[in-house]
Amino acid sequence: MNTQENPTQDGYDVVVIGGGSAGLSAATALARSRRSVLVVDAGEPRNAPAAAAHNVIGHEGIAPTELLALGRKEAAGYGAEILSARAESARRSDTGFEIGLSGGTTVQARRLILATGLVDELPDLPGVRELWGKSVLHCPYCHGWEVRDRRVGVISSGPMSVHQTLLFRQLSDDVTFFTHSAPALESEARDQLEARDVRIVDGTVAELRADGEEVRAVVLEDGTEVEVDAVVVAPRFVARADLYEQLGGTVTDHPVGTLIETDPTGKTALPGVWAAGNSADLSAVVVVAAGAGVMTGAAVNADLIAEETAAAVEERAARGLTFAE
Ligand SMILES: Cc1cc2nc3c(=O)[nH]c(=O)nc-3n(C[C@H](O)[C@H](O)[C@H](O)COP(=O)(O)OP(=O)(O)OC[C@H]3O[C@@H](n4cnc5c(N)ncnc54)[C@H](O)[C@@H]3O)c2cc1C
Repeated sequence: MNTQENPTQDGYDVVVIGGGSAGLSAATALARSRRSVLVVDAGEPRNAPAAAAHNVIGHEGIAPTELLALGRKEAAGYGAEILSARAESARRSDTGFEIGLSGGTTVQARRLILATGLVDELPDLPGVRELWGKSVLHCPYCHGWEVRDRRVGVISSGPMSVHQTLLFRQLSDDVTFFTHSAPALESEARDQLEARDVRIVDGTVAELRADGEEVRAVVLEDGTEVEVDAVVVAPRFVARADLYEQLGGTVTDHPVGTLIETDPTGKTALPGVWAAGNSADLSAVVVVAAGAGVMTGAAVNADLIAEETAAAVEERAARGLTFAE
């Protein structure tokens, strides 16, 4: 595989920060367009805690690490270079951007794609972080089928918790909603939950009781234990945007987190900077992030073509050549 230890000092058409589904898809689209591409990846894809990735056409249930290994091989097969490193700084330079990497190296790029994903900020409850992605879940499309007909407990921890409960109720008749520290349920929400036979347990959750990776019970502060087979929480989704901010960008607030705002092709407010996947779309699952990556790779290629074509026209005119001649 074309996995670089020493990236070229000559610079790349495009440096992609992040080698998840979005970044590797962007890199493949660019490398197939004969662009020089470097993917810098710190190797912490968001779904790493999960054993399997679902709703991935052609690879249903594949291990997340295996899917990305295939993606790296495909991108490298077309000449993309992939570097295991962290991009620590980004600044504008005469030719585009200079990216500072862990280890002290710098690389140059004409365009930058931020496919850095997001951080799931989890509710601060003992047991949640330890079981995250195993039996503490958030996404019905990622793990819902796997907990169908099981005892599911939803801990209210975000503005989408009632909606999330109704989605999991589609998969199991045995769903309990823990009001926890959320503001009092509005009567419409309480009506909806009760109408769908969701049990509502008032009171603050203290911790989760588990057996290995399996959650066994939600424990309330008053000592009450409610037995469950899976717990659902609503993390805050925070785009990894430190490089975007270093370049002068500002993240956009969203009801469930923050993101890098883009147009549908991934173009940000900063000239030459693009974003794809969870950094720009908090709800993107694997194939959606991959689709965004392809779209952004194509858009960046088109942007470079426009720049190169304008330069060629200018250069031709400088030589005194016109179409009529
Ligand atoms: C527990 C869990 C389970 C999930 N299960 C599913 C599922 O079954 N099916 C599904 O479709 N979706 C699932 N998802 C969603 C899935 O994880 C995302 O859709 C997907 O990871 C988004 O891809 P991405 O490329 O945008 O970001 P990521 O996959 O998170 O990749 C971002 C990459 O960028 C790297 N990076 C970040 N900053 C830097 C930096 N400064 N320098 C270098 N590298 C950097 C990170 O280390 C990481 O490798 C799940 C999510 C979670 C939390």
